[in-house]
Amino acid sequence: MTFRPGILITPIIVIGFLIASTCGAADAANPRAAESVTVTILSSNLASGGTVGEWGFSALVEVDGRCILFDAGNYPDTVLRNAKSLGVDLSCVTDVVLSHFHADHTTGLLPLLEDLRSRNPNAMRRIHVAEGFFLPRRIPSGSGYKKMNRMIAMRKDLEDAGVEFIEYPGPAEISPAVWVTGPVERNHPEKNYAQIVQVRIDGAWVVDHVPDSQGLTIVTPAGPIVLLGCGHSGSVNLLEQVQRSIQDHSIHALMGGMHLYSASDETLLWTSDRLRKIGIQNLMAGHCTGIEPLIRLRAELNLNRRTAVVGAVGSRFVYGEGIHPTAIAQ
Ligand SMILES: [Zn+2]
Ligand SMILES: [Zn+2]
Repeated sequence: MTFRPGILITPIIVIGFLIASTCGAADAANPRAAESVTVTILSSNLASGGTVGEWGFSALVEVDGRCILFDAGNYPDTVLRNAKSLGVDLSCVTDVVLSHFHADHTTGLLPLLEDLRSRNPNAMRRIHVAEGFFLPRRIPSGSGYKKMNRMIAMRKDLEDAGVEFIEYPGPAEISPAVWVTGPVERNHPEKNYAQIVQVRIDGAWVVDHVPDSQGLTIVTPAGPIVLLGCGHSGSVNLLEQVQRSIQDHSIHALMGGMHLYSASDETLLWTSDRLRKIGIQNLMAGHCTGIEPLIRLRAELNLNRRTAVVGAVGSRFVYGEGIHPTAIAQ
């Protein structure tokens, strides 16, 4: 057989590109970085002033002039109401990243779509989720079970409105310097999820470890800025994946839910020990992190009232400036 390099090399180049763009393990030592990043918390458990708190999470992420919404809150109007109160314009949001399927991170999607599209026909064109997001779930109810993944039905409404769902099997750069982690490898036994919910995988019902739990990462010269939704994968598992496959650097800022509100003293000590090794420069965790765990992490990680605060509604993290806390959270 005659060797024909043109035919062989082309597929190799194409496959190489696909691996680099969808699996993302291309160059964690030297990824491209953002110049301007601002994160504004729009839903969390603590709030003050004219904003409202809830058991939920959402944040607007502005990166070099692009707007991404991370999660959509627990009640239909929380994100819209808080954005209005804070003077934040969400009509620039073209992409939404969802940390996982739970209702406290997704219920605001349809009201947001309606409001944003009325001001920008190109708003909310894509929703980025990790594989496992649409798997069926059930929870014990009476003598049987009740279905609980409302995103399966909501998907149709959103797709009918022209929204494209993109599911990721691994880390991926969705926009320059902006990455989703995709499903997180569970190398440590962090079990930050309810044991009574079940997920159907390959035809079998098993405890739902929320395989679709993912984080959002913005690469900066000072290290990755990482947002967690509910931290169901475990924050240590997720941050190690960020360092392994996106940017091998200490974490410039960590925010969102770490799911430590009911953690034992032993778990908190294990977590802080691991986080100290990972390196956390700024901490603005909220939602299901819990107030006491946040304050303990501040001490264990040698942070202070300027570099570690509760991520309340209205809190901002600005790259180059640091944390802008609200009055209730500093
Ligand atoms: Zn959750
Ligand atoms: Zn949550």
